[in-house]
Amino acid sequence: MEADFQVCSNCKRNVASVHFALHEAYCLRFLVICPECEEPIPKSKMKEHTQAEHQQGREMYLLKEKPIVITANK
Ligand SMILES: [Zn+2]
Ligand SMILES: [Zn+2]
Repeated sequence: MEADFQVCSNCKRNVASVHFALHEAYCLRFLVICPECEEPIPKSKMKEHTQAEHQQGREMYLLKEKPIVITANK
């Protein structure tokens, strides 16, 4: 038995030929490559991933903003 690999066109990873058809079908259907970190991410988790990994700074900034309380009751 030879160790035979093919490169998946979706995630660009080496996949053993024996699993390749299965992997590619799964990969194309469920995984997307994150444009920011180029990691294969499940489609359903893409939003979470982007928010958790790439928008943390923005989120933190928003959380730091305190609501302005206007006290004008004279
Ligand atoms: Zn793949
Ligand atoms: Zn990412």
